[in-house]
Amino acid sequence: MRRLPVFFVIDCSESMAGQPLQAVQEGIDFIMSGLRTDPYALETVYVSVLAYAGIVRTLVPLTELFAYRSCELPLGGGTHLGKALDHLAKEIERSVMRTTADVKGDWKPIVYLFTDGRPTDDYEDAISRWNAKYENKVTLVAIGLGQDVDFSILKRLTTNCISLTQIDHEYVKSLCKWISASVVSQSISVGNNQEKQDLLPLDERYMHLAKEKLSFRKGRVDDRTVTFIGRCQKLHHPYILKYTRHLQYGELSDVNINLYNFKLQTCAGISEDYFSWTDHAAEKPKINTSVLEGGSNCPHCYAETAFAMCACGNLMCYDGYSEFAVCPWCLRQISFSASGEDFNLTRGQG
Ligand SMILES: [Zn+2]
Ligand SMILES: [Zn+2]
Repeated sequence: MRRLPVFFVIDCSESMAGQPLQAVQEGIDFIMSGLRTDPYALETVYVSVLAYAGIVRTLVPLTELFAYRSCELPLGGGTHLGKALDHLAKEIERSVMRTTADVKGDWKPIVYLFTDGRPTDDYEDAISRWNAKYENKVTLVAIGLGQDVDFSILKRLTTNCISLTQIDHEYVKSLCKWISASVVSQSISVGNNQEKQDLLPLDERYMHLAKEKLSFRKGRVDDRTVTFIGRCQKLHHPYILKYTRHLQYGELSDVNINLYNFKLQTCAGISEDYFSWTDHAAEKPKINTSVLEGGSNCPHCYAETAFAMCACGNLMCYDGYSEFAVCPWCLRQISFSASGEDFNLTRGQG
């Protein structure tokens, strides 16, 4: 039996925190349960799920559909696309059967690569390596989630670049319907002993082919989201604060001066696992707190603010009145003075 291997490579970087990651999690479950009810897919499709942030790991090795168990997507710091491609290549070498003189191997693997931002690692060489070996051996579909995607990078990997303009439940569901239908259609083709190449038509209300090289602003200052990691002083559990960019002085845009600030979008507890998915060696950018708007209670102990900083540079929660506190990061006792001044803070890598 020739298998049709389908790989999902999912960006689980911190900018995905909250609704986007939840939507993708549901989307993957939706795809799998849909495929499992399809007789053609059940017969040929094998699936694998890889997650990448600052670290890349295989969540589900290549598995036949009926044996697939839902996996929980992690969250980590960084978007190491280069590492993800190298890891995917290894996974393909390890699990996909090649055609030899005696045996017909697996059908051409399909890869759905999800990303919501720009790579944070040195991806150039990894892209060259990938193209040299797999350009014609694997069908890669790159899916850019949201507005921060640098398609000029994804275009170097594949002409199949799809832009999903928003990352909410409705958009992701529409995308996953399309993926599901695409995999079924491919499994029917291979059932008839053909491999077809064309993409199924897209639901243009939600997504489109990213055809042109989109112009893209360079530099980290223009990011749409900034994230911070804190720890609860009382319970020591980590949490993430995610701010999204808003145009502050729109009227100045015609003179090309755009002033942005960032508004709080999500403050939620995260798993300790976050640190194992983060590349701690990567450069950590800073941001001045004056551009941040909005605060939150601690998601764990509901203390007044989740945005207190220790001299060690880390964030913690603070009840607003205690004179002393113990930093959950460096365990030093610190005294609080309400300075009200803005400060520079280490932010996530995105
Ligand atoms: Zn707390
Ligand atoms: Zn500290």
